[in-house]
Amino acid sequence: MPPPPRGLTPHPRRPADPGASAERLRSAGGPVLRFAPSPNGRLHLGHAYSALLNAQFAIRLGGLCRLRIEDIDPARSKPDFIDGIVSDLAWLGLSYPEPVRRQSRYMDAYRTALDGLVGRGLAYPCFCSRGQIRARIASAGEFPCDPDGVPLYPGTCRHESPVSVADRLARGDPHTWRLDMAAALRGAGSTLGYVAFDEAGERWIAADPGRWGDTVIARRDVPTSYHLAVVHDDAAEGITHVVRGRDLEAATDLHVLLQALLGLPTPRYHHHPLLHDAEGEKLSKSRGSQSLADLRQAGQTPGDIRARLGFA
Ligand code: GLU
Repeated sequence: MPPPPRGLTPHPRRPADPGASAERLRSAGGPVLRFAPSPNGRLHLGHAYSALLNAQFAIRLGGLCRLRIEDIDPARSKPDFIDGIVSDLAWLGLSYPEPVRRQSRYMDAYRTALDGLVGRGLAYPCFCSRGQIRARIASAGEFPCDPDGVPLYPGTCRHESPVSVADRLARGDPHTWRLDMAAALRGAGSTLGYVAFDEAGERWIAADPGRWGDTVIARRDVPTSYHLAVVHDDAAEGITHVVRGRDLEAATDLHVLLQALLGLPTPRYHHHPLLHDAEGEKLSKSRGSQSLADLRQAGQTPGDIRARLGFA
């Protein structure tokens, strides 16, 4: 397990109660972190590690850590999972300032951000079904993939005529919204990158968002995607330091681009290693990894979990 973070400069104004003074700290310019789970399952050890690491960095930096519920997916987000997240974190001994932001309540704000990008010609509607995209890619033979291994969108709807787009939108044809990556890169202009921090200190990382291609920034069912909502909310909540898993490291390049386009500040980032199960696979809800609730049921204590994750 990684050692506790060292080499970071503690914030000079460390509050006596980091959990209780979000607004004061934000106005004082203090560090603000966040733990941002999606309520589509119960938390597992990987989440516990991320939440504890966020709390540890918050203490060392003299800041605070907020909780955000990333529930933009209406089909997968369940109120029971939100309750489970809150009770699992409390059981672990973690508390968070109120109010806890729930993304599903901010759809109008995401729509406004999206409209701004569309109005500047940086995003376009995509009417393609998954099957159509697959067929197009298959017919083209080789196609480059994004960092998640998904073939890049071939750009079909980017070439749709304005009249046809207007017709289809007026008809209510289902569509996502895609970033026009070439236009976005031109629009963002200057060199893109971010400051990464870890135990050893800070360093500059150059971002290469182009490798995501014309990625979806708003889904069919809601006027946002994870990417748009997360950059919007990190700015809205005054987040200065993002601590999250390495599975999102490549997405940070895209986030830096969206921040530049939307005129939002770029936080500092730390991407922590992911926990793996006995078969060497990343812990995940979809693999049915043992939840904290299961471990608690089996008699494990919060102290056992902390010790197992290296936070004793
Ligand atoms: N909601 C995301 C998840 O549960 C995390 C997003 C983030 O930390 O940026 O994987």
